[in-house]
Amino acid sequence: MEIRDKNTDDLKVLIDTNTLTERIKELASAVDESFKNGDDVYVVCVLKGSVMFCAELVKYMKSKVQMEFIRISSYGNAQKSSNKLKAIDLTLPDLEGKNVVVIEDIVDTGLTAKYLIDLLSLEHRPKKLMFVSLLNKKCARKTDIEPDLYGFEVDDKFVVGFGLDYAGYLRNLPFIGYFP
Ligand code: 5GP
Repeated sequence: MEIRDKNTDDLKVLIDTNTLTERIKELASAVDESFKNGDDVYVVCVLKGSVMFCAELVKYMKSKVQMEFIRISSYGNAQKSSNKLKAIDLTLPDLEGKNVVVIEDIVDTGLTAKYLIDLLSLEHRPKKLMFVSLLNKKCARKTDIEPDLYGFEVDDKFVVGFGLDYAGYLRNLPFIGYFP
């Protein structure tokens, strides 16, 4: 079904904007707490889905933040993971010996997370690597990966908004929603 056939009035709010903001402030403090030695923290935003979460998180971080952006795709236009990753842009500076925080929108099968953790730890050898996700869909996991920190656990529904898309649309919603 095309997005234009879906009535967005039917969207249900799963996590509202205030709840998101309050939890993201807590996550920002927790990340700061993990890196309180004063070194720079390299925040790696995994585009496109993490754009809103990452921008919000860094607003509340007090560490010295450097922002980096990579782009990976796994869903295409579907509502189920393709189980195949497409690395579109993995350009990063040398992160050897740095504090690195990878920011994901949602950990679903965990394939993206596993790929990124392996890539960063083997190819970059950071001093400390942390993986933070706004959402955690534990029931869909196909790897043994768990984020170090996450905002909310969600059950096995396809969620949209706050960066998460439906066929490219709905990323701009200020809340997390779903079609019932
Ligand atoms: P994984 O590799 O963990 O299966 O999936 C990671 C990516 O799939 C996420 O970064 C996200 O872009 C996409 N994804 C997983 N679950 C959902 C969902 O419920 N809604 C949307 N819009 N994207 C999802």
